[in-house]
Amino acid sequence: MLVVMRVGAPRKQIERTVSAIRKLGLKPNVIPGSLRTAIGITGNKGAVDPERLRSLPGVAELIRVTKPYKLVNREMKPEDTVVDVDGVKIGGRSFVVMAGPCAIEDRAGALRIARAVKRAGATMFRGGAYKPRTSPYSFQGLEEKGLDILREVREKTGLKIVTEAIDPPSLEKVARAADMIQIGARNMQNYSLLRLVGETGMPVLLKRGFSATFEELLMAAEYIVDQGNYNVVLCERGVRTFADHTRSTLDLSLVPAAKRTTHLPVVVDPSHAAGRRDMVPALCRAALAVGAHGLMVEAHHSPEKALSDGPQSLDLPGFRKLMKSLEKIGSAVRTPVGGRPAARRTRSRH
Ligand code: PEP
Ligand code: MN
Repeated sequence: MLVVMRVGAPRKQIERTVSAIRKLGLKPNVIPGSLRTAIGITGNKGAVDPERLRSLPGVAELIRVTKPYKLVNREMKPEDTVVDVDGVKIGGRSFVVMAGPCAIEDRAGALRIARAVKRAGATMFRGGAYKPRTSPYSFQGLEEKGLDILREVREKTGLKIVTEAIDPPSLEKVARAADMIQIGARNMQNYSLLRLVGETGMPVLLKRGFSATFEELLMAAEYIVDQGNYNVVLCERGVRTFADHTRSTLDLSLVPAAKRTTHLPVVVDPSHAAGRRDMVPALCRAALAVGAHGLMVEAHHSPEKALSDGPQSLDLPGFRKLMKSLEKIGSAVRTPVGGRPAARRTRSRH
C-alpha cells in the first residue's frame, strides 16, 4: 500500500500518518525524492486493513500495490532513482562505465589498468579483493591487501571503487574501503547478507543470479531497500541457458523490463555473460542502445596472464577501442558515455 500525501502537506501531518501506520503494526517507508511525500507501507501480513488511513488529514490517496516487490516498484516511486557514488551518478540520462580486472592481483597492475581505463573514459574501477570462485583451489583474491590497493587506486586516479563483499566479515571491510559494494550472482539470494548491505546505507551493485527470474532479482533488491537503503543498482550479467556459444546468455530484455517496472537503475555486465572477449564489445554497444544506465567491463593489461577470467577480459587497447565505439552510439541515443561529453554527431556526406 502506498499513502500519497497532498502536495504541500505539512510535516506534522506526515509525522502523524507515519505514527498511525506504526500503530497498526506496519512499517512506514517515507519515499525519498518525490514531489509529493509518499509513504510506502510494508510488513502487512494481511490481518490489518490500512484503509482507515484514508481519512487522516493530509492524505490524498491510498494506492494498493499488488506485486510482491513494493519499495522497488515504480508504482511506489515514479521518478528514477539516481544512485550517487561519491559524485558519479548512476541512473537518469548518464551512462557510467565501471572497468577493471576480475581480481586485484598486484599494485602495479591495478594502477596500470586503472590509469588506462580512466583515460579511455571509465569513471569507476572494479576489481575483486574477495573472489567467490567456483573451485576452492582457484585464486581467492588478495583480501585486505587487495582493498588497500583499491584505496590507492582511488587516491591516485580519482576513480570510484566498486568491489565485492562475499560474507559479513568481508562486508565490514569492503564497506570501509569501497565507494560501492558489489553483491555477486552467487550471493543474490543470500538474504541475511542483503539485509546487512542494506544497513550500511552505501551504494550497492546487485548482480542477477545465474538462474534468477526478474522478479527474484527485484525481491533481492527489496531486501536492501527495506533497510532504508535506496542506493541500489541492478546488474544483468547473463543467465544459464542451453546456449553453448557463450558462458551465459545476456538477457538484454531485462533492461526495458526494469525501466518499466522499477525506479532503480540497471547496468549490464557483458564480460561475465559472454565469457569470451571477442563478443564483449558488441554486447556493450547493444546494452547502451537498449537503454542501460551503464556497463561493468573486465579489462586487464595482459589478459593471458590474468589469475581469473582472462579469456573474457579486454586488453587495454581493446578497451580504448570499445569506449570510442560507445561514444558514437552514445551520441546517437543522446547519452553521454562515461566521463566524457557526448561525441558530436558526424555529418552525413550527402
Ligand atoms: C565479478 O564481477 O567479479 C563476478 C564474480 O561476477 P558474477 O558475480 O556476476 O559472477
Ligand atoms: Mn570475473
